[in-house]
Formats: sequence, structure tokens, C-alpha cells
Amino acid sequence: MAPGIFSRHVRLNLFWKLGSAFVALLIAVLLPVDYYAERTLRRDYERAGFEQLTSIARIALASPPPVSSLSTTSRTPSPALREWLAKMAASGVRVTVITSEGLALADSQSDPHTMENHAERPEIREALANGDGLSLRHSVTINRDLLYYAVRFSVPGGPPVVLRFALPVRAVNEEVWAFRSRLWFSSLIVFLVTGMASLLISRTFARRVERLQFFSRRVAEGDFRPIDADRYGDALEALAVSLNDSAAHLDRAIRTLTEERNLSAAILGSMVEGVAIVNSAERLLFANEGFAGILELDSPPQPGSSLVEVVRQTELIEAVRDVLKGAPRVEAEIITGTLRRRFFAATVASVKATENSGAVVVLHDITDLRKLERVRRDFVANVSHEFKTPLTAIQGFAETLLAGAMDDPQNRVRFLQIILEHSQRLARLTDDLLELSKMDADRLDLEVDRLSASQVVQSCVETTQRLANEKHLRVSINLPPSLPDIAGDRRRIAEVLQNLLDNAIQYTPSGGEIVVSASSDGQEVTFTVSDTGIGIPQVDQPRIFERFYRVDVARSREVGGTGLGLSIAKHLVEAHGGRVWVESEVGRGSQFHFTVPVFQPQHAAFRTAR
Ligand code: ADP
Repeated sequence: MAPGIFSRHVRLNLFWKLGSAFVALLIAVLLPVDYYAERTLRRDYERAGFEQLTSIARIALASPPPVSSLSTTSRTPSPALREWLAKMAASGVRVTVITSEGLALADSQSDPHTMENHAERPEIREALANGDGLSLRHSVTINRDLLYYAVRFSVPGGPPVVLRFALPVRAVNEEVWAFRSRLWFSSLIVFLVTGMASLLISRTFARRVERLQFFSRRVAEGDFRPIDADRYGDALEALAVSLNDSAAHLDRAIRTLTEERNLSAAILGSMVEGVAIVNSAERLLFANEGFAGILELDSPPQPGSSLVEVVRQTELIEAVRDVLKGAPRVEAEIITGTLRRRFFAATVASVKATENSGAVVVLHDITDLRKLERVRRDFVANVSHEFKTPLTAIQGFAETLLAGAMDDPQNRVRFLQIILEHSQRLARLTDDLLELSKMDADRLDLEVDRLSASQVVQSCVETTQRLANEKHLRVSINLPPSLPDIAGDRRRIAEVLQNLLDNAIQYTPSGGEIVVSASSDGQEVTFTVSDTGIGIPQVDQPRIFERFYRVDVARSREVGGTGLGLSIAKHLVEAHGGRVWVESEVGRGSQFHFTVPVFQPQHAAFRTAR
């Protein structure tokens, strides 16, 4: 409803209600007032009339008409009687003299001959019987209502006559009507004045109600600013004050709820875990970005979209269905992606957030856990496998020796030699594993010093020289003249370089060439070990730094490799804050690069455990 129409509606409604109530009240008051006032007036008037008549009667009896003129036979009044009549009627009273038979002897207003017999008139009968009589009735003679008072007057020597006095009632009626018209007129004035007042009151009232209505509509639309309370001190003002309180309360409650909702939305939105709520009709009520990301959806699904249309993983759909059927909590594992598979633990729990029960789904990324489990399984399998070969060999040759080969001087030394080689391999394996486990446990103590890059290269190449010579390999160093010093643990950096040089020697056929070079960009020094060896196939290159990974397992074993050297080297380089990588071409050779930070003054204080 439009505000103007509302206001007019309220105003008219109030006006009619107030107006009709007032008219009803007025009539309810006026009618009895009118009735009783008329009665009282009439009675008072009649009483006054009768009193006037009785006092005139008393005067008349005190100075009665001449007895001689009261002859019952003559109906023509004597002059003396007429004079008496005129005197008595001077005050406006009609005076009649009537015989005991009812004949009018004289009348102050009519001719007695024209008058009927009055014997049956109540006041006459009463006067003749009791001495006086009263009556209020219509006069046939003069055709009007009259008040009558009659007294018996004894005529000496004859029958008594009745002296009757009458006053017209018209004066009473006129008086009553005058009073009544004054009463109704003043009531009409009061009615008009109060009608105007009620119109004004209803207008003000309607405006105030209208303001309250606007206010409540404003509150419903979310505007909680208080309304200015008027100063009428009535129930409407009290209503405005309590509406203000309610609005303020509502405002606070909504603010708190909004803050809580924003907080929840922020928490859910920033969670890497996927969270979704599904209703009993298997429709998504909510899903955060994590959920969309995990299920590789382009955007978070719209609320209300069907679960089966959004989710392809049947395990998850089944879990949700189990919970919707009544299971309190169901755990499942889902896998996403085809090339890069990712694993997620799905927890579906029953939730009673809405009228009907639903399910809340939480997806937690366990890819790393699964990867770690696989690495651990592979590692245990690899370690067992690596130990098995030398142990089997040692066991086999020891048994052969015990079984009698000890007495064979030719084979005895060869067998013992083999046992020694395998036990040395076992020792190398255990050393490498120990070192790796130290690195894993972050217990690698680095003693970072200022090192001359060329000195480190020089000493490593010298150590390798003998082996290289044996294999007829040429090892050369190619360093720029001004190479900055590096910040590193001398023994560890040497270990890395030595490892790369050993590999280069091992995987380069005789006659090949090995070059150790270095360069610097001012931030770090990059060391490179290049060989002209067998090279590494492209597919294996990203994996050779993994534990136990070998391109050619048989060949690596043959040269005494453990498959751990490069992974140890990678750990050590990264512990120094550097990187290691390979470039290689099968049949042409490989280049292994690793970086070490250039020594900075702050490194002087940096001797720490990593
Ligand atoms: P290993 O003890 O077997 O040498 P590494 O971790 O040192 O173990 O090396 C891993 C694998 O990388 C080797 O088995 C080998 O196949 C390959 N590889 C390492 N260095 C070279 C190189 N310079 N030339 C060719 N292949 C190499």
C-alpha cells in the first residue's frame, strides 16, 4: 500500500471510529437528559401552574363573587359577576363559574350558553365531592390543553357552585421546546467542535502511526537508525521507544551474525581442505574454493547443483549416500587427476544444519603422505635388495671355504678377496645410508668457512688423478683467474665434487676427457664436471638424483656404485643453499653442475648446524 493511501485510510478509519463513538455517546447522554429534563420541566411547570391556580383560588374564595349573582337559573352573568370574573382573570387565568349540575354560569373567555354540561369533568366532580379538584386535559370549549383547578363554593341558601380556574398548558410546551432546542443546538455545536478535534487528533495519530510504519519498513530493509521519539508521552511514544530498542538489538544481533558469517566464510574460503555441505536431496548447499580446486572444477559449484553432476568420484558419492541414509561418519579415499594423480582423504559426517539432515564433506590432501609411504616402501625394498647381493656372496664364499676350499691354496685367497670386496661394498652402503639418515633427520653439521674455490677443485682433481691415469683419462681444470671465495663446509663441498669426478671416471670409457670448470655471477659460484662418457638418457635425467636410482643397474654394481652418491650430493648442495642439475647426451657425455654461494662478510659469523 502506498504511504499516502495508508495515511488517508488510517485517518478516515480513525475519524469514523472516533466520530461514531462520539455521536453514540452524545445520543446516549442526550436522550435521557432530554427525557428527564422534559419531565422535570413539565412537572415543575405544572406544579407552578397549580400553585398559581390554587393561590388565585384562595384569593377568589377570600373575595368571592356576589352570592346574588350565582343564581342557578340565569346563565347570563350579572355585571357584578362579570366584574369579578375580569378581576380574577387579570393574571391570564380563565375563570368559570359552574353550578352543581354542571351548567356554566359565567366564563371569563367564552359565552356560557355555548358551553357543554361540565358535570362529568373530573375536576368538577372532585370539587363537588371533596371541596377541590385538579385536572390536566383538553378543553373542548376553547380547543386546547388546560390545567384546571376547581373549588366548591357554598352559596348560603342554595346549592353550592364550583369556581374553576384554568391555565393554558401551551406555555409549558413552549418552555419545554425552547429548552429542548437549546439543548440540541448546543449539542450540535459540541458535536461539531469535537468532530473537528477528533479529525485533528486522528490526523496527528495517523501521521505518528505512519512514521512508525515507515520506520518498521526501514528496519525490515536493514536500516536500523533510530526514529526520533515524539514527546506526547503516550502509548505511541512508548511504542516508538521500544521499537528503537528492538531495532538496536536487531542491529547488534545482525552485526554479530554477519561478523560470524564473514569469519566462517573467510576461514572456509582460505582453507586448503575442500569443504562442502550436501542436503538430503543430494544437492550442494555450499562448497568452498578448496573443494572446487581439489575436484578440478572451473569454479565453485552453484548452491543447489546436484552432487552427482559435480562429483565424478563414485567413492565420494557413495560415502555421502551412506551418511544421508543414517551413518554418522564415513571415511573414504578419492583419487583425482590422470597424469599427476593426487590422493584425498574424504570425511563425510552427518550434519543437522537445516530442517532436514544433510552431510558435510571434508577433503584432505594426503598425496604427500602416500608419496612418502611409497618412498619408504621402495627404500626398504631397495636397501634389502642392495644388502642381499653382497651378503649372499659373502655367505656363499664363506660356506665354500668351510666346506673344504680352505685347503685349496689357489682359490682360498681369491675367495677371501671376494669376501673382502663385498664386505667393503656393505661398509660403503652402510656409510652412505648413515649419512642420508643424518641428512633426513636434519642432523647434518655444516662448518661453513671461507673457501678458495680453486683450492677445492685442485685438491679433488689431485685425489682423482691416480684413478684417471689408470683408466687412461685426461683430467683438466679450467678456472677463470679471479674466482670469488665461496661459503661452505670444506669437507662436504669436496665430497660433492669428488663424487661427481668419481662418476665421470666410472662412466667414461678410457681415452675420454674430464674437465672441471667454474664460473661466478657474483652471488654464487657454479662448478661443472664435464665428461665425454656414455651419457644419460633424457627420461632418466630427472630421476638420477633419487636414492638408489641407476640408469644401468648392472653396470653401476659392476663399478661398485651404491646408487646413493648423487642423492647425497644433492642433499649436501641444497644444505649449502645451492642447486644441482645435469645436462647430458647419450654417447657424447654429461655435464653435472652445482652452485655454492659466494662468501659474504656475514658468513663469517655463520657457523651453524643445518
Ligand atoms: P652410482 O653409485 O650408481 O654411481 P649415483 O647416485 O652416483 O650412483 O649415480 C646414479 C646413476 O646416475 C648412476 O647409476 C648412473 O647410471 C648415472 N650417472 C651418474 N653420473 C654419470 C655420468 N657422469 N655419466 C653417465 N651416467 C652417470
